[in-house]
Amino acid sequence: MTLVGLLMKMVLMSVSVRRLGAVACMLTLLALAGCAGGITRMPTRNPGQPTIVTAFYPLQFIAQRVAGDQAAVANLTQPGAEPHDLELTPRQVASLTTASLVIYEKGFQPEVDEAVVQSENPEVIDTTTVVSLRPLTTNADDLGRGEGAGGDHSALDPHVWLDPTAVSRIAGAVEKRLVIIDPDHAADYRRNAAELSKELRGLDRSFRTGLAHCVRTDFITTHAAFGYLAQRYHLTQIAISGLSPDAEPSPARIAEVQRVARNYELTTIFSETLVSPAMAEAIAGDLGLVTDVLDPIEGVTDQSRGHDYFSIMASNLAALRKAGGCS
Ligand SMILES: [Zn+2]
Repeated sequence: MTLVGLLMKMVLMSVSVRRLGAVACMLTLLALAGCAGGITRMPTRNPGQPTIVTAFYPLQFIAQRVAGDQAAVANLTQPGAEPHDLELTPRQVASLTTASLVIYEKGFQPEVDEAVVQSENPEVIDTTTVVSLRPLTTNADDLGRGEGAGGDHSALDPHVWLDPTAVSRIAGAVEKRLVIIDPDHAADYRRNAAELSKELRGLDRSFRTGLAHCVRTDFITTHAAFGYLAQRYHLTQIAISGLSPDAEPSPARIAEVQRVARNYELTTIFSETLVSPAMAEAIAGDLGLVTDVLDPIEGVTDQSRGHDYFSIMASNLAALRKAGGCS
């Protein structure tokens, strides 16, 4: 081989090596992009970092705020899914066994209760041991109907997260447990929990002052989720059923809702999601009633009036103030 030939070969090799390098780079970038796409759905997890599995949105929110960057949080209830009758995949059931910490509310989601028992994971927070549940109160006895939202009076009300002070107590329990599980980051957990509690105290204050002077303190809702909120801020929840946003209510049902509104001298019918204009018109009839949204924050979707617990609670406060004629 001549010197020129050798040089040529070396140049070619270096080119092909560079090319290989470029191809490898591209592959790496593609792989990274692929990973990044996956990360948006699955929580990032550094080796050795605790993993927390939560049962539904408000618990996920609390865990994420207290854990900050120090733990990966996965939620069993997908955004927009109804948490009350959640069904778990085998993979989700398995995730309870390997989790560093599971946070759930016993009695709220039967499948989760069962999976937690099956997992035999000792690192579990049952939030009912932190905030005890009260019986469902709907104040709808005078409706004379035993169905749906107002029906089961022996049941316990799971919706503690709509009282910010309850959220703060659950956050405190999560903080204490994370400090034990991951003592290296105790200072982070304590600081995060303190910040969250401060913000929750501010929210509680805005509800107390915002709802202190109202013309109407009763409110009608289709989802009896606001019992704890009502008790905390001296309001009365009147839960009615049979007003699903998709279903066409019967004339008898509309008449009944109107009768309740008239009896309580109320002007607003709250539902969980936006009801169709046709239904709103049907309900309003010639009584001048309006419909509005009060969000039980069981999940956050594009339809939510806010992107997280705090912003949706702010929307709920605004809606309650408007309906109550609060000054
Ligand atoms: Zn609910």
